Amino acid sequence: MNFLNNVEIAAKYIKEGKLVAFPTETVYGLGANALNPLAVAKIFELKERPSFDPLIIHIANIDQLEQLVEKTDERVYRLAEKFWPGPLTMVLPKSNLVPDIVTSGLPTVGIRMPNNEIALELIRKSDCPIAAPSANKFGRISPTTADHVKKQLPSVDYILDGGKTSVGIESTIIKLTDYGFQILRNGIITQEELETILPFDSISVIEKLSAPGMLKSHYSPKKMFLIANNSTSKIDKSKAGLISFSGELEAGYSKIIRVSETKDLKDYAVNMFEAMHSFEDDNDIEIIIAETVKEVGIGKAIMDRLRKAEFSWRQA
Ligand code: AMP
Ligand code: MG
Repeated sequence: MNFLNNVEIAAKYIKEGKLVAFPTETVYGLGANALNPLAVAKIFELKERPSFDPLIIHIANIDQLEQLVEKTDERVYRLAEKFWPGPLTMVLPKSNLVPDIVTSGLPTVGIRMPNNEIALELIRKSDCPIAAPSANKFGRISPTTADHVKKQLPSVDYILDGGKTSVGIESTIIKLTDYGFQILRNGIITQEELETILPFDSISVIEKLSAPGMLKSHYSPKKMFLIANNSTSKIDKSKAGLISFSGELEAGYSKIIRVSETKDLKDYAVNMFEAMHSFEDDNDIEIIIAETVKEVGIGKAIMDRLRKAEFSWRQA
């Protein structure tokens, strides 16, 4: 496996149907030519991702969007104008060009334009849209550095190293309805920001999709991971690592990672997965505890990730 920063070589690999891990502003993606079903199949294989879980297609310009979707309307352009390039995925009716394997057979496709120069250059030089889920094994912690990718997917054909990602959690995913938009996954772009462009649809029923964006368990560290509450205050803190936000819970913990110096929720998003990786790799730590935040604005996306990371441990 190579670990070089050569976008030319990476693009050549994409054209040859190989897999390239690359940075976006959210997390690292595991990319393949979105129009080549055999290449896309390799993503599912390497990630051990179930085939019912659709991939997001990454584009570098609006012409690519128009090729991939059946129809657009002016709302799509207004959203694109305001939020692209950026961490917003729009789920839209797909065109025939999009292979079924990308969308898990759904009639819709998730598309976004990432706000990361290396990602955009890779898409341009590859001359195709790139399908990419996060570059981790299915269900595990998302990667925010090239090292995180290497740890989980050592056999990937190529890794582009763009340093640590600037947003740190996955994109907000929305679906357009007749009335406005629904949120399928919370991210750093909040409902309130989207409402400056379109009304939030609280009327239509969200279609149930069996995919991790909506699954209860995801983003899981290998070690016991719990959200701080009354019961976790009684655990043996000498073997526990705390992901700390306010600083108020720190007493007694063996190791602490403070995710923000200024109590800024954006910092929590940026540093959350890195903190999980760091405690996962630390032999002195047996349990990871994460501080909760209020579920407003970005807090919704943070709590969503923490709950999914915790889910299977609470069952145990
Ligand atoms: P990721 O694992 O970050 O690549 O995110 C992929 C997620 O996007 C999936 O798990 C779904 O939740 C969502 N998604 C992608 N395509 C669609 C689609 N056509 N309809 C609904 N959700 C989608
Ligand atoms: Mg993922």
